[in-house]
Amino acid sequence: MSVLITHIGELTTNDHDRPLTDAALVLDGPRITWVGPADEAPAADQHVDAGGRAVIPGFVDSHSHLVFAGDRAAEFAARMAGESYAAGGIRTTVAATRAASDEHLTSHVARLVAEMHRQGTTTVEIKSGYGLTVHDEARSLAVARQFTDETTFLGAHVVPDTDAGEPADATAYLDLVTGPMLDACAPHARWIDAFCEEGAFDVDQARTVLEAGAAVGLGGRLHANQLTYGAGVRLAAELGLPAVDHCTFLRDADVAALADSGTVATLLPGVEFSTRQPYPDARRLLDAGVTVALASDCNPGSCFTSSVPLCIALAVREMGMTPAEAVWAATAGGARALDRDDVGVLAPGRRADLLLLDAPSAVHLAYRPGVPLVASVWKDGRPL
Ligand SMILES: [Zn+2]
Repeated sequence: MSVLITHIGELTTNDHDRPLTDAALVLDGPRITWVGPADEAPAADQHVDAGGRAVIPGFVDSHSHLVFAGDRAAEFAARMAGESYAAGGIRTTVAATRAASDEHLTSHVARLVAEMHRQGTTTVEIKSGYGLTVHDEARSLAVARQFTDETTFLGAHVVPDTDAGEPADATAYLDLVTGPMLDACAPHARWIDAFCEEGAFDVDQARTVLEAGAAVGLGGRLHANQLTYGAGVRLAAELGLPAVDHCTFLRDADVAALADSGTVATLLPGVEFSTRQPYPDARRLLDAGVTVALASDCNPGSCFTSSVPLCIALAVREMGMTPAEAVWAATAGGARALDRDDVGVLAPGRRADLLLLDAPSAVHLAYRPGVPLVASVWKDGRPL
């Protein structure tokens, strides 16, 4: 059944140079079939009046860690009281996740995905990384797969402690990650990822993980340059990964490598907001010709927001992006980061994933931070 949406105040398609005014859009089943001026719109089975609201593509959140149990509010409160963030805080969540039942993990992910939908996210990537055993990583990904095809095996999140509470041997753990754990996880995953950072895995270890994933058909992505100037971003560019995420501490050579390779720099400003760290310099990346995406990094430790509109507002107010650049980065940019051409753009043939905003233009997402402007969410051609 076809649906005609008219009286769109401003339509951001990511397919035109600038938003369309007095626009209309037709969808049929899960796909868009027509976009253009309202007075030229074809007839359709059903008519929806947008009432002058702005319409944009649904957000494509290309980076989240939703499969976990437990709560780290106390750690957040301590950090806000002056303690610094260390990568090892992940271990707290690992213990709670291992102890949780499949049912508990599934209902928790369902709750967070519903929270994301309400805030306009229509495509979400979900990582494992809080199980860190063969069994717990595989079941984390099996849970995530119930909610999205964009699942990422992140066994190389941190080296877990042994049962005696001692740090495990990193080399032995990497053999597990690239051997039996990968074998158990690959059927449930599209991607493989590693946390390339001081206190986690170095660049040679990250390369080993990504190459092992590639050998069984998984695409690569990487956490890099979040806390320090490292070689992770250059590794991602060298390997031609679709995206490298965080990119907070960059030297000129890193920026040039991203521009040359076309690897998307996925910026996660909710992390810097929640850890009181310096924001990545989006303006520098954009001016150098780097493709930038924005994502939530929703996770229980460094950033427990699922709100892409918050990320857009932070990117505009703290990172030098224009409102239009930030909205593009959170939609088409996220799609690029996931190597997807069916979402993030409103054009004939693309997926009918779109948002009606209680605002006359998408600029309001940054202009009115913290205000719930997402009036309705359409996914696969149906209102959620
Ligand atoms: Zn992350």
